[in-house]
Amino acid sequence: MRRKDLTGQKFGRLTVVRYVGAAKNGNARWLCKCDCGNETVVDGYRLRKGTTISCGCYRREYMRKAIMENPKTVAQMGQKSQFVNSEGVNLAAVTKLRSSNRSGVIGVSFDKQSAKWNSRLYLKGKLVLNKQFVNFEDAVKARHEAEKEYLEPILERVEAGKQKNEC
Ligand SMILES: [Zn+2]
Repeated sequence: MRRKDLTGQKFGRLTVVRYVGAAKNGNARWLCKCDCGNETVVDGYRLRKGTTISCGCYRREYMRKAIMENPKTVAQMGQKSQFVNSEGVNLAAVTKLRSSNRSGVIGVSFDKQSAKWNSRLYLKGKLVLNKQFVNFEDAVKARHEAEKEYLEPILERVEAGKQKNEC
C-alpha cells in the first residue's frame, strides 16, 4: 500500500517524527512529538483529517478549563452524563455553584453557627473534603487542593478512556 510520507510535517501541536508501521485497518501509524514534550503514535488518517492535533494535552487542558472555570459550558455540551457513566461521578453537581452559596467559590460556604467557613467536596456519594476554617482564603485553598487531588485524576482518566475507545 502506498503511503504519503508525513515525516517532519506539523499537525496542530504534533510534529511527525517517523513511520512506525501499519495499523490493523491498514492505515499508516506515525510517531509524533507533541509541543508539550510527549510522544504519541497517531493514525495518519487522523492527522490529515485534523482529528488528532495533540498527544491529548490540548483536550485535557480544554476540558479542565471548561469544567473548572465554566461548569455551565460543560452541562450545555452534554458532557454530564458521560462523566457520570464513566466514573460514577456527577461532575456537573460537583462543579455547580449553589444558589444559596454566597462565598462565590464552589464548595465553600459560611457557617453562621460556628462563624467559620466550610470547605467541602462531595464525590461518589461521600465527602472527600469536609473541613472548617476561620479564614475564607484557607477554605478556598483547601477546596482547590481537593479538586486537584480528586477531580483532576478523574478528568484525566475520562479523557484517556475516551481516546482508547476512539482508536
Ligand atoms: Zn501534548
